[in-house]
Amino acid sequence: MYLSIVVPCYNEKDSVSIFHKEIEKTLTDMKYEIIFVNDGSSDNTLDEMKKLADTDLKVKYISFSRNFGKESALYAGLKNAKGDLVCVMDVDLQDPPSLLPQMIDDIGDYDVVATRRVTRKGEPVIRSFLARMFYQFINRISKIELVDGARDYRVMTRQVVNALLELNEYNRFSKGLFAWVGFKTKWIEYENVERVAGETSWSFWGLLAYSIEGIVAFTAVPLSISTFFGILFSIIAFILIIFIVVRTLIYSNPVAGWASTVTIILFLGGIQLFSIGILGKYLEKTYTEVKNRPIYIVGETNIED
Ligand code: UDP
Ligand code: MG
Repeated sequence: MYLSIVVPCYNEKDSVSIFHKEIEKTLTDMKYEIIFVNDGSSDNTLDEMKKLADTDLKVKYISFSRNFGKESALYAGLKNAKGDLVCVMDVDLQDPPSLLPQMIDDIGDYDVVATRRVTRKGEPVIRSFLARMFYQFINRISKIELVDGARDYRVMTRQVVNALLELNEYNRFSKGLFAWVGFKTKWIEYENVERVAGETSWSFWGLLAYSIEGIVAFTAVPLSISTFFGILFSIIAFILIIFIVVRTLIYSNPVAGWASTVTIILFLGGIQLFSIGILGKYLEKTYTEVKNRPIYIVGETNIED
């Protein structure tokens, strides 16, 4: 069995060589290649990769022309992987290489061996809470099943990788794509590990945008929200009309109630704008998809086809 390890890297100059050493220690009796994808780092991550590639033929690198995001880096790695088995892994050692031998052993009976964090130790409490809310929400409104705490760290057979490569959409939400292709999956659980060097590239707003990305990519349910409110308010309006007609007939027409009118107008205006916002989000995704631009652009690489 030949294993390809796909490793997206963005500003990870210190982690790259530590990662390489760890893998060398872990995989002693296996044929493998490491595909580092340099996602437009602004530090000398690429130089570190080249240094390793000079001394170790198992090291391949693909360097993007700019930062395209982890999802694009994963796609590039999968596309260039030659292995019968492919492993996807972060370079910061938050995906423990020590799990790898067991994952490779287990793959015989499964198509995918995936990992999930059972703790979120070392992470801000609010972030963990919001993440949990996100998983509950998306699982309720979409058909795919996202596992809470699931990492991208996984070993897949060639068949699964080929299925993933067929999903060549521009807006890539990998966690959803992994779930979407299905296949028999074994989950391995482990405790959260903090990164060895550098720092996370995820800000709060980045994560929020990423979760909206996931929702828009995997369910159209939010589009029906405006229909729901439309029907609800039509019914309320109908009841109110009858109420006002009857009241006017009985009590004539006193000038009152401007405050409630303004409140209602603001409320409805808010809901209309919110609904238009949802429409806009889907329109944006359709627009970027229709343009059919490449998912990534290679600046340089040592992989020849
Ligand atoms: N990464 C990337 N492109 C980006 C951001 C991150 O390739 O634009 C890589 C990063 O180098 C790391 C992995 O994706 O190997 C996970 O990123 P990070 O550790 O920042 O995320 P976290 O583990 O905090 O979720
Ligand atoms: Mg990390």
